[in-house]
Amino acid sequence: MVSGPILHIALSGPFRTCFDYLPPAELLTSPVPGCRFEVPFGKSNRIGILLSISEQSTLPPSKLKRAKRQLDAQPLLLEADIRLLRWAADYYQHPFGDVIFQALPSNLRKWRTLRMAKPAGLRLTQAGKAVDLNTLGRAPKQVALIQTLMKNSAGLSKIALKEEHAITPAVVRSLMKKGWIEPCDLQTQPETPTAPPKEKEGHPLNPHQQQAVDKVSHYLGTFRPFLLNGVTGSGKTEVYLHLVEAVVARGQQALLLAPEIGLTPQLLQRFRERMGDKVAVLHSGLADGERERIWQSMRCADQQVLIGTRSAIFSPLPKLGLIIVDEEHDLSYKQQEGFRYSARDLSLVRAQQSLTLAAGEQAMLFLNRRGYAPMLTCHACGWLTDCPRCDARMTHHRQQNLLWCHHCGHQQRVPQQCPSCGSPDLRPIGQGTERVEESLQQIFPDTPLARIDRDSTSRKGSLEKLLAQIKAGVYPILLGTQMLAKGHHFPAVTLVAILDVDQGLFGADFRASERMAQLILQVSGRAGRAERPGKVLIQTRHPDHPLMQLLTTKGYDAFSEVALQERRNALLPPYSHQVLIRAEATKAEHPERFLNQILEAGLKIDGAANIEFWGPVPAPMERRAGKTRAHLLIQSSHRQPLHQWLEACIKLIDELPQSRQVRWSIDVDPQEML
Ligand code: ADP
Ligand code: ZN
Ligand code: ZN
Repeated sequence: MVSGPILHIALSGPFRTCFDYLPPAELLTSPVPGCRFEVPFGKSNRIGILLSISEQSTLPPSKLKRAKRQLDAQPLLLEADIRLLRWAADYYQHPFGDVIFQALPSNLRKWRTLRMAKPAGLRLTQAGKAVDLNTLGRAPKQVALIQTLMKNSAGLSKIALKEEHAITPAVVRSLMKKGWIEPCDLQTQPETPTAPPKEKEGHPLNPHQQQAVDKVSHYLGTFRPFLLNGVTGSGKTEVYLHLVEAVVARGQQALLLAPEIGLTPQLLQRFRERMGDKVAVLHSGLADGERERIWQSMRCADQQVLIGTRSAIFSPLPKLGLIIVDEEHDLSYKQQEGFRYSARDLSLVRAQQSLTLAAGEQAMLFLNRRGYAPMLTCHACGWLTDCPRCDARMTHHRQQNLLWCHHCGHQQRVPQQCPSCGSPDLRPIGQGTERVEESLQQIFPDTPLARIDRDSTSRKGSLEKLLAQIKAGVYPILLGTQMLAKGHHFPAVTLVAILDVDQGLFGADFRASERMAQLILQVSGRAGRAERPGKVLIQTRHPDHPLMQLLTTKGYDAFSEVALQERRNALLPPYSHQVLIRAEATKAEHPERFLNQILEAGLKIDGAANIEFWGPVPAPMERRAGKTRAHLLIQSSHRQPLHQWLEACIKLIDELPQSRQVRWSIDVDPQEML
């Protein structure tokens, strides 16, 4: 088995699976799903799109080839786009390689790299501006280029230079070599220098139209299909216009699908009159370059409204808030050859998948573990980042390049090599908030994310500032530890994900499951306030665990009833009362010896017969901060005899000579057995 980052790439062609490659020798950026790669395939090279990255490949090492190069630094397709395409390929049983590539403008199915968002231009450098033109008497073309650029100080595109000023690429190259001109970004000029025509007001709606607009508007931001029923001329388009305006006003994008013959100049004109250049149109008559430009502008959300025929359903629309399918019964929504999809049906799937994030709402992820990963391991020998002072692992904090024990505070630099065998291959195990943040940024590169944990809010006032920004809606994704669950109200949160709750199901502490349930309840309470329906996702490896089932299907009351019954059967609190005596010392044998003496003396106290003694036993974390620790648990079904016994016992402890060799404490009604 080969390990290291392995790229899973979908290749253009009738392929139903994707292919594994090693990353190319040189990367443009760290590879993100949605970027294109050129890869060797058979005897030739092909283009593929990166779908995912994993640690391992099932291919034998001899079969695993290296990708040739990365074509895009930015993903062409975002995660949501890939998800829709995957769904469509599965549902229509069409090879995924075909499906994913037909979603790209044809220019980008080839080797062409992505066009710059702004056209690249040329301008004079300082040296170029200072050239004495008289010295260039024998190079009139160079003089012409310099003079042209003098007049256009903001720069000119190469195309304009060639077509409007008859300047050849050879001249451009020679001045470039001399360092007299340089590339620059061109500010996109408005097509007409005059002010854009004033956007028209719509008709006042009639009561039926108003009712339709109100009903749909109420559900903007959630998934909800509607059928608008009305004969031609009854005013449906007017309803669409109002709804699209409402969506655009929310800062979102709208997609209007129309049958090929329904995409009439009148329809486009009405949208253009009302919304000007926010509207783009995709139809079969467009040149490839124009198609690519529109695709780009939708992908960057530079334009808000896309009107198009069937295939427009695959356009990237990161802020999609509404899809309208005009004349949904029309047969032209179904492609009749090759990839036989129905754009009408896919519009429903797409609307359903458009995850919360686009809707001006917030998603909250909760993981009660800060740092990058709970430990590092050496891949060669299995060495782990044990804390030298505790029975615990040191957490990997990647941003600070530290190993940090959360129990005793011990810190050290991350070693370059395994201290045990010298291998440089040290890998993180498990997830902390830092690592989840990194994954989220890869999946949603354009979505601002706020991380709330002790590390990200250590500076004074930073938590307050972050919370205020979250309330103002700056961050669609919130990620955090317990700090995030504590009492803050986030009315816009409609999706909550609780990561890795399993320690609650199997924790050593009998209260672990109760805490897990309370946490789920508390965190879930953050979702779906203020009339917005919310969703809670729980990540567990044991979805069938009876307590988990009870909690998710019947709720907290049912859970607590069963949990209480279990406690009653086991005679655990609240059906009994507990006292925990803790002892710790530098010398390993002292704490247990001390607790044994307490036990011996305690058994002789009056009333000891009504009391149960458990231990002494090593504490769950036997060594912490260099000290060895032990517990003695004392329990009784009645509080009074327990307290009488305790009073007598404390007097005895004070007289024990060993009590000066250990640090000891008494915890009445202990909440944690740490
Ligand atoms: P449909 O899309 O159902 O065919 P339209 O929205 O195109 O209907 O409306 C048909 C005609 O009626 C258009 O000329 C439109 O400008 C006009 N119209 C629609 N709604 C109103 C209204 N509330 N008041 C006045 N005229 C309207
Ligand atoms: Zn420690
Ligand atoms: Zn090692």
